[in-house]
Amino acid sequence: MSYIESQLLPGEAIKYRGHLHRIIFLPAFVFAVLAVLALVIAMQSGDWPLFYGVAVPAVIAYIWAQILHTTSEFAVTNKRVVFKVGWLRRRTVETMLSKVEAINVEQSVTGRLLGYGSIVITGTGGTAEPFRNIGKPFEFRRQVQAQVSATEESQRAAVRAIETAAVHPLREERDCPYCAERVLVRARVCKHCGREIEPLKT
Ligand SMILES: [Zn+2]
Repeated sequence: MSYIESQLLPGEAIKYRGHLHRIIFLPAFVFAVLAVLALVIAMQSGDWPLFYGVAVPAVIAYIWAQILHTTSEFAVTNKRVVFKVGWLRRRTVETMLSKVEAINVEQSVTGRLLGYGSIVITGTGGTAEPFRNIGKPFEFRRQVQAQVSATEESQRAAVRAIETAAVHPLREERDCPYCAERVLVRARVCKHCGREIEPLKT
C-alpha cells in the first residue's frame, strides 16, 4: 500500500496521481556514459581505477534516483492535495482542497521541452516550498483545479438545498401509502400510481 493510500480519510478517494519525471535519472545517465568511455580507455590502457571511479558513482546515482522515484508520491483526492517526497528524509505537504488558493507551475526551458516542472501550492497558511521535477506539471495543476471546483460546486449545491428547504417547507415529501413512492405531503393524487391519497398538509 502506498503512503497516500494509507493516509486516506473516510470517504476520500484518489482522483489523480502525479510522478517524478525521468529527469531525476540524468546524473546516473551522465555517469553511465562516462563509464562506457572509461571502460574503452581502461581496456586499452589498463587504467581500471578511472573506470571504477566513474562506474561506482553511476550505480549510486541510479539507485538514489530509483529510490526517489518509487518513494515519491503526488496525488489529488476528492478532499486534499498530497505531496510526499523522499524516503529517509521525508517531506510531505497536505493541503485541503478548500484551503488551496493557488497552484503555480514553474518551468525551465529544458523542463518545457522534456515535460517536467516545479509545482508550488499556495494555501491559506502561506506558500510552501516548491516540489521539483514533477512530470506533466500542467496536467497535475489542471486536476487540482478540477477537484477544487468540484468541491466548491458540491458545497454550493448543499447550501442551495438548505435554502430551498427553508424557502419551500411545503416541498416536503412522504411515502405514498399505496405504492410507497415519494410524493409531496400536499399531494391529493399520487403521481406514481394515480390513486387518491389524503394530503398530510394543505
Ligand atoms: Zn402511489
